[in-house]
Amino acid sequence: MLKKYNLTNLKKVLNYNNNKVVLRGAGSLGKLAINALQKLDIKVDYFWDKNPRKQGLKYCNVEVVGDKKIIELGKEINIFICSNYFSLVIPELEKLGLKNVFDCCELIENTDYSKIAFKTNQEIHDFGNIFNNSPFNQNPIEVKRVLDLHRTGLETQNSQNYKNNISKKLNIKYIDIVITEKCSMKCVDCSNLMQYYVEPKDSSLEILFETIKKTMSSIDHLSEFRVIGGEPFMNRNIGKILDYLKTFENFSRIIIYTNATIIPKNNNLKALKHPKVSLDITHYKDYKYSFKNHPKLIKVLEENKINYVSHTADRWTDSGRIKKYHRTDDQLKDIFLNCCVGDVLTILNGKMYRCPFSANAHNINAIPFNKDDIINVLDKDLDQIKLREKITKLYTRKDRKEYLSACKYCKGRDFNTTEIPAGIQTKEILKNPKFN
Ligand code: SF4
Ligand code: SF4
Repeated sequence: MLKKYNLTNLKKVLNYNNNKVVLRGAGSLGKLAINALQKLDIKVDYFWDKNPRKQGLKYCNVEVVGDKKIIELGKEINIFICSNYFSLVIPELEKLGLKNVFDCCELIENTDYSKIAFKTNQEIHDFGNIFNNSPFNQNPIEVKRVLDLHRTGLETQNSQNYKNNISKKLNIKYIDIVITEKCSMKCVDCSNLMQYYVEPKDSSLEILFETIKKTMSSIDHLSEFRVIGGEPFMNRNIGKILDYLKTFENFSRIIIYTNATIIPKNNNLKALKHPKVSLDITHYKDYKYSFKNHPKLIKVLEENKINYVSHTADRWTDSGRIKKYHRTDDQLKDIFLNCCVGDVLTILNGKMYRCPFSANAHNINAIPFNKDDIINVLDKDLDQIKLREKITKLYTRKDRKEYLSACKYCKGRDFNTTEIPAGIQTKEILKNPKFN
């Protein structure tokens, strides 16, 4: 379905059909795409995004519109997919009969963003906050990361498209590696459910290493190991874990998600000094230790030339409760399809799950066990081939039901989910509802 192009012939291709240019997705990729297209002197007419909170906003004076407007524009418009959710977006474009569809890989890969002055006025600032929860910039690490995820999303889509026989590779975008259930904060609305843990503990190194080894030998490529907790620096062995992850050859990056409360030292600091490692820092300004330690952490990272990005958490989705929601099958499918972590695999205590909510809710025995949603990676009967089949089934949307059993107990994490203030602390451990 996707049209081939290169930067030299793109303008000609678009002029030839003389139709509107629309960017499907108003996030980081959309921002990169519009700046690249404008550099080529190609006019973008609209952003197209499903999120009603984005519709009506403008970036570079280009408005974000919804489905209605796109249908009015007709089937000949030029669409650039500025989203990594190819499996969600492509069927939607096919349904509307849109034919002039392009991905963003060539465009972003061949644009020198260091030479583009991203705008800094209030409009852009708002766009950044609303669209990504953080102002996105042309930081080369972030550009490379966004592009790589886009490419992996495209390859995964192609590998599922057996009809076209493009590739049968099993490329995964993200695997969350939960290295500890402990956190230095106690956010009452933590979407990873830390507020329900009575006796949180660090993951066993032996089980963790064995699970990762088996997983990595069963897939072709991984874009990101996402090292998470709780707070990953609560695990004193984080340096050893990072050094172990670095031994694999079939991955692109390791990202550590931290709340800026702990400053790494000694071997843990040393393990961060690697071109494939970077930190994704969430700065909670209202939490004393995150506020106080954030500048110290940045200083240490700068001094040691360690890669990082940092953003401030003001608001997030209300996704931190385990409740039984009574939804129809179609509503559950919608929640799963639109979920912002619906394409993440999570490893926790020797098992693999499809998202961190599913992982942690199962881990604390809060929801009923569902064998289709969990892989016991260390099961001796699972050799490399069988594990690959199971991961493919869990990760792709092929041959599987279209939501997780965990989605019945989760409020969802998409643009319809209510937003609430981020990082509110609790002293109490929340009562495990035990729907199990
Ligand atoms: S959301 Fe809060 S409690 Fe949850 S992992 Fe992050 S800092 Fe810890
Ligand atoms: S349980 Fe479903 S809706 Fe909730 S985070 Fe996971 S995939 Fe998303």
